[in-house]
Amino acid sequence: MNFVPVNEPLLNGNEKKYLCECIDAGWISSEGPFVKEFEQKMSASVNRKYGIAVSNGTAALEVAVQALGIKDGDEVIMPTFTIISCAMAVTKVGAVPVLVDSDLHTWNMNIEEIEAKITPRTKAIMIVHLYGLPVEVDKILALAEKYNLKVIEDAAEMHGQTYNGKPCGSFGDVSTFSFYPNKHITTGEGGMVVTDDEELAERCMMLRNLCFKKDVRYVHDEISDNYRFTNLQAAVGLAQLERLDEFVGKKRQMGKYYTEKLCGIDGLILPVEKTDYADNIYWIYGIVLDENINIDNKMMQKLLVEEGIGSRTFFWCMHEQPVYQKQGLFADETYPNAEYLARKGFYIPSGLALTQEQMEQVATGVRKVMQKVAGWK
Ligand SMILES: *Cc1c(COP(=O)(O)O)cnc(C)c1O
Repeated sequence: MNFVPVNEPLLNGNEKKYLCECIDAGWISSEGPFVKEFEQKMSASVNRKYGIAVSNGTAALEVAVQALGIKDGDEVIMPTFTIISCAMAVTKVGAVPVLVDSDLHTWNMNIEEIEAKITPRTKAIMIVHLYGLPVEVDKILALAEKYNLKVIEDAAEMHGQTYNGKPCGSFGDVSTFSFYPNKHITTGEGGMVVTDDEELAERCMMLRNLCFKKDVRYVHDEISDNYRFTNLQAAVGLAQLERLDEFVGKKRQMGKYYTEKLCGIDGLILPVEKTDYADNIYWIYGIVLDENINIDNKMMQKLLVEEGIGSRTFFWCMHEQPVYQKQGLFADETYPNAEYLARKGFYIPSGLALTQEQMEQVATGVRKVMQKVAGWK
């Protein structure tokens, strides 16, 4: 039995050709011409005026938060159920993440809880679209307008997705992307900040590059990290972006296939196919175990390995992170839906290089495991 890895990217377009062009021309650093071209094409694809490519999706969030001037003592509202990058971008500048629970239907943050969390210290709301379905953006934009808050949109998992027909990555003051190999398009490592605000874009460009000043080099009024993105990464990104529609189609086919094969199995909660405002794009194919199933996602992961299937557990909640608990953050806070997803959710192989045979093996393996655990007490 061959092992089916949880993710494998598809790199059989123009990636090699464009990479060779970099090497032949000698342009491999962040100064190369593909970087600007990739920034332009990527930002245009989500109707944004400016794109600032950075070293990864986490860096994109850090740059976005810093560019908005969020600082010590400020509060940023975000889901507790997300990747640590979101909270870290906020805690790194001394600001405080203020958490909301998840919606068990879409696995995104429960928007109804946001308004009660707004205080005079709230500076921004961070929208994080998770696993394939966008957050109900309009409601958040309305709240932001009412309370004069900034909006950061983490669209790391949303390449090619739309909300009410408008591209994810086009909402709020600033949006961020990741190009990690399990995202819809990859550059190995990489990320991008996109915005329509010229001043914000200029701050992002400065923050990505050690806060070098435009006029006097090597003299710094502020400091930041080196978050630069190379011409080699941009070469891969351009080749990937050419195929975005095809990739999105492939992911949706994968989602449809898995749902058809798995929908009859007791004890599995499958991803929602569509909402009023979007069709699932299946960044990954997530599954949540029903309450009646007496195992957690870690056990599920082990049992799937026995069937030759790679999987990953869902994210771990921010309020349950040991690092934040040690700092005294989120003491006594509980978010039951998010805690449930973090313990019972997992995802099966969902990469773009997945073959029909591999998907069949996965579906058969999941069914076998569920038959095994059905009677466990
Ligand atoms: C992947 C991801 C990130 C982080 O991106 P990296 O490139 O891995 O740093 C941030 N937010 C979300 C929602 C992600 O899925």
